Amino acid sequence: MSNQRIETKCVQGSYTPGNGEPRQIPIIQSTTFKYATSEDMGKLFDLEAEGYFYSRLQNPTCDMVARKICELEGGTAAMLTSSGQAANFFAVFNIANEGDHVVAESSIYGGTFNLFAVTMKKMGIDFTFVSPDCSDEELEAAFKPNTKAVFGETIANPALRVLDIERFANAAHRHGVPLIVDNTFATPVNCRPFEWGADIVTHSTTKYMDGHGSAVGGCIVDSGKFDWMAHADKFPGLTTPDESYHGITYAERFGQAGAYITKATAQLMRDFGCTPSPQSAYLLNLGLESLHVRMARHCENAMAVAKFLESSDKISWVFYPDLEGNVDNGLCKKYLPNGSCGVVSFGVKGGRKAAENFMKHLKLCAIETHVADARTCCLHPASATHRQMNDEELKAAGVSPDLVRLSCGIESAEDLIDDIRQALESV
Ligand SMILES: *Cc1c(COP(=O)(O)O)cnc(C)c1O
Repeated sequence: MSNQRIETKCVQGSYTPGNGEPRQIPIIQSTTFKYATSEDMGKLFDLEAEGYFYSRLQNPTCDMVARKICELEGGTAAMLTSSGQAANFFAVFNIANEGDHVVAESSIYGGTFNLFAVTMKKMGIDFTFVSPDCSDEELEAAFKPNTKAVFGETIANPALRVLDIERFANAAHRHGVPLIVDNTFATPVNCRPFEWGADIVTHSTTKYMDGHGSAVGGCIVDSGKFDWMAHADKFPGLTTPDESYHGITYAERFGQAGAYITKATAQLMRDFGCTPSPQSAYLLNLGLESLHVRMARHCENAMAVAKFLESSDKISWVFYPDLEGNVDNGLCKKYLPNGSCGVVSFGVKGGRKAAENFMKHLKLCAIETHVADARTCCLHPASATHRQMNDEELKAAGVSPDLVRLSCGIESAEDLIDDIRQALESV
């Protein structure tokens, strides 16, 4: 499988049926699994044997889909979670505890910002947010002796800033900590962060991976490249015995390739239970089968819409990393040579009110708290996803009050442009 191209992995990755077996992945809709002896089951509880015993921890359907995403990203281990929020929470909490610190890029998704700056802060984990435009000195100054990870999004939602993955990875590694990259908007079709030095990748699979607005979900993938033992003092959870698992030391028992995901499954999934349903994993897999075809079309449509918006005298600014002249166009060419994503942001002349008025007149493009769907949708973040933020935080996240986020679907680009044109004329 590993030699195949990503298009083939999207369609056929992780599941190869035997003679007479189902062509599509089976939905193992079972909470529990049967064993002949208590001894057999005991070995599973002690992590001495591989197998399933309770679907809160692991389920065969979910694991098949996690393995496909793992193959797409080029990782060594992966797990599905019930949402993207759960994926980012687990990804950080698996290595950062009370009293620890994390460096995060400031333009990240509003939900993740809230998780970090408010909820995880209450748990005693401290975050320093750095601007995507920070100098090397500012980035360096963000690290503390108790820093345990660096976090950023390949393409920030909705600010659309492109993360300089190599630069952030190098900074993280100089301080002996991993770089976690949320690759939701790019998907592994357009960017594989591990190839640029990232150590852990997360996803809200709710977006392009599912792609049809049918199932909320998340995923965490480990590159297997971060040497926990070389920084054993920083990561005691991986490098010292876990008393809740008979003194297993994850990094010793499961090695660099498996320690991180095994710990996240054995401890965090066991204790928090943010597990996806096998039905949802099945729907996610249907989306993955066409991900490579859809991503190309999303990007093509977004480029056509962005160029139309640029040419309109009713629009004050257009932000799409693929446009020549965009602040991140250089990073986009480097990390996203086949296109970034289907999301374009822009400002309607007349500010906040004009933006709301414009959206009211759209017929084909629907107002939704969603992006990255086969159907085009749009949102005014300042009055929806980012409404918890004050003006200063909005500015740091790159979200202005007049910003409209348009997520171009895979319909006809001409129809999308016609709809936008008539709405602009009505403003
Ligand atoms: C949507 C989103 C999330 C949260 O994912 P849910 O599946 O909605 O929980 C996290 N990160 C990014 C970049 C997102 O777009």
